[in-house]
Amino acid sequence: MPIVGYVLEKAKTGRSSCKGCKEKIPKGALRVGTESDNGEYTMCSWRCANAACFKIPKKNYKKDVEAFIAGEFQNVDEELVEEFRASFQKSAAEKEEHDNGLKRTFNEISAALANVGSSSDGGSSSSKKAKKSSGKKKGSSSSFSTTLSQADIERVAKEKGMSPKLVEAIALYGKMTTSDLKQILKWNYLVQSGKKEELVSRVIDGHVFGTIPRCPECHGGEDDPERSTTGRKSTTLTCIPSGKNDGQGKWTCKGYHNGHYRVTCNFVTDHLERGEVPWVRTVEQYEELLQNQAAKEKIENSKGMENVEFDTSNMDQRAVLDSLLEKARGIGIKLSSNDGDARIALAGIYNANDKNITDTLVAAKKELGTVEEEKKQAEKAAAACKCPENAKLAGIFLEASTHAGGFKKAAYKKVAYAIQNLDFIFGSEGTATGKQLGSSKKHKVDGIGKSSGLKMDEYLQDGKIQRFIEEYGMSFDDDDDEDDTTTTTTTNDNNNNNNNSAYDTYDGSGYGGSGYGDDAYGM
Ligand SMILES: [Zn+2]
Ligand SMILES: [Zn+2]
Repeated sequence: MPIVGYVLEKAKTGRSSCKGCKEKIPKGALRVGTESDNGEYTMCSWRCANAACFKIPKKNYKKDVEAFIAGEFQNVDEELVEEFRASFQKSAAEKEEHDNGLKRTFNEISAALANVGSSSDGGSSSSKKAKKSSGKKKGSSSSFSTTLSQADIERVAKEKGMSPKLVEAIALYGKMTTSDLKQILKWNYLVQSGKKEELVSRVIDGHVFGTIPRCPECHGGEDDPERSTTGRKSTTLTCIPSGKNDGQGKWTCKGYHNGHYRVTCNFVTDHLERGEVPWVRTVEQYEELLQNQAAKEKIENSKGMENVEFDTSNMDQRAVLDSLLEKARGIGIKLSSNDGDARIALAGIYNANDKNITDTLVAAKKELGTVEEEKKQAEKAAAACKCPENAKLAGIFLEASTHAGGFKKAAYKKVAYAIQNLDFIFGSEGTATGKQLGSSKKHKVDGIGKSSGLKMDEYLQDGKIQRFIEEYGMSFDDDDDEDDTTTTTTTNDNNNNNNNSAYDTYDGSGYGGSGYGDDAYGM
């Protein structure tokens, strides 16, 4: 969404959250709002008025705070602007102090290492990349080997009062080329962009403190089945350093875009478990990591398959498939509710796995997924609604898409995303009907067709969609509706910031899978 302006003000309430540090901005605290407009509506996202939370845009202002103030805050009260300037400069100075500290450490150790020379027996780091980069002399006059012995490293560390791990890291990466650094960052699922010195410090940080994991909440950067394009594959976590050089600080997640909608995430922590996944710096280590992950996945995937074997010797294929189907449903493998379709799906996997029962079920679970995963996915998607009140209806179409085949599958998904993106509560007074959303010139919404629009109206009127009951065996009962997403309300005082609010308030339990019936619209 294009940015249309900035607001500088004292927070009117204590309810808005900073998009940077994710903390509540106290009432009366100075905050900066970024206003964006998508042609339909304007939204404003707030940040604390400091350099850690608010970044001066590159565009137009080249990250220069004075140029930004002159360009955007001409009509703002002078006192406020002065406060902004002071707060911004103070926090920028703190950051620079931190960066300079790292740079000093880096230079000091680099110099010490240069004196050690390359007399060691080497042999540990085998990659040709190491040789290539150690041969280059760029910038500094020092040239140290990347294959220093452990003893050399220990000695330098002791001399300088630094941790051996840090000395080792500087020895390993201090002289690497940008492309080698990027390769290492990629292996470790870290962000690859930035200036060279940023890449170096990111790699050193990872070597010393361990890999930065995926966000524990949204798993940003993982393969997302909903992703329409091959997107980023790096962690979505960022850190404002604690200043103690301990690899910790204020961690926040910036969420990600899966190609259809933005998955917002409000994960925040002061301590992140790092290093559970081993740090990778050679192609051999990377391959080993992949193998271990595959092995782990295999064990994970065969959980619950301990007693699935049965004797097929006196059974015809049809009988085998019937038994397989029963087992597969028992395990919770996601299959069409139509037995015939489900059998066909299983038959293909059965034949591809040499007619081995356990292998077939393991493969089916992996290929088709489980009902539980599906439900989680649907919860996640439902939580992405601009109006949480529309989550149930979006969830219904998402569920239908899991049952449907062919073009209908894709069509129902599109409808679900379109509903997620509606910026009004469907069914509320004075808004377009489903029929209008699907076919009228004025109200037409991309992704909603005429017949889907009619289904939306049917749901509004009857609390169910007959076609989905008949074709997919979906249930619209009121009874097992344990919780109700529709009662969630936004807590931000910037109501336009819909993007954030759905995730903010979603408690994860609202999507009951089968129970959508509770009439949210008071009709
Ligand atoms: Zn903040
Ligand atoms: Zn996250």
